[in-house]
Amino acid sequence: MDNILSDYQRIELKQFRVTTNRTSSALSVQIDKLLDEQSMRRYLAQLGKHIGAANDKVTASIFIKRYAFLAVAYLYTMTLKNAKLNISFENVSLETDEKDELWLPNFYLNDFHIETLIGNRETWRETCIYTLFNNHLYPLFDCLSRVTKVSKLILWENISIYIVWLYETILQKEELTEEVILRSKEDFQYLLFQAPGSLFGGYNENPLKKYYNEHIYMEEYEKAVRPRKTCCYSYLTRSKKRCTSCPQVCTALAFVSEMQRREEQSNE
Ligand code: SF4
Repeated sequence: MDNILSDYQRIELKQFRVTTNRTSSALSVQIDKLLDEQSMRRYLAQLGKHIGAANDKVTASIFIKRYAFLAVAYLYTMTLKNAKLNISFENVSLETDEKDELWLPNFYLNDFHIETLIGNRETWRETCIYTLFNNHLYPLFDCLSRVTKVSKLILWENISIYIVWLYETILQKEELTEEVILRSKEDFQYLLFQAPGSLFGGYNENPLKKYYNEHIYMEEYEKAVRPRKTCCYSYLTRSKKRCTSCPQVCTALAFVSEMQRREEQSNE
């Protein structure tokens, strides 16, 4: 059944950077314009300059890290509202602020129609997941990896981290009914462990499963974190930002701080 997302529901999705405003920044783009190699290459070149990325692989990884918020908004709507957002490539655009050096784009949907659950939920959920991963994310991953040679493993982990965050953190904070809590647990189990690889772009295995690592305690953050398996290259951007989910020492960061230390010493 077709419906329109209410104003209240749109406000709720703002936490995942879904916006109702457009911007005219050079980095704002409708997603269907990025699906051919040439356009993607041009876009990544512009974005790479903006975030100060060391190379195109770095830009591709950061692009998907930010893009993960669209997946989160979509799954949040699926689990909480039993509704499916229209994320066809023609319907989604990235809206960005040129002054934002970290590049945290918003997602604008031309059309806020939602398809609410009809019939069997398991079948409906399978269609939702196929739409998100097979039809939307996988073609983007494929294009990014053809253009930059970035490993799809990094891109899957970039998405997987935010899915875990949604179900283990955000949906734990919400005041949910018992029915929704149960649904949320079931959806999380299904997404990470039961959904077949064929829903994610024709894989034999579910590509999200392998990133659900055990927590380890990090003294630095005074909390347990789930360590990444791949490096997202965040340290190779201008911000040199280190990810809180990663216990590895970024060698580049270590190098930079060593240089700084030596410089400070020689100035003493
Ligand atoms: S903290 Fe550093 S090493 Fe770890 S994933 Fe992030 S950028 Fe890579």
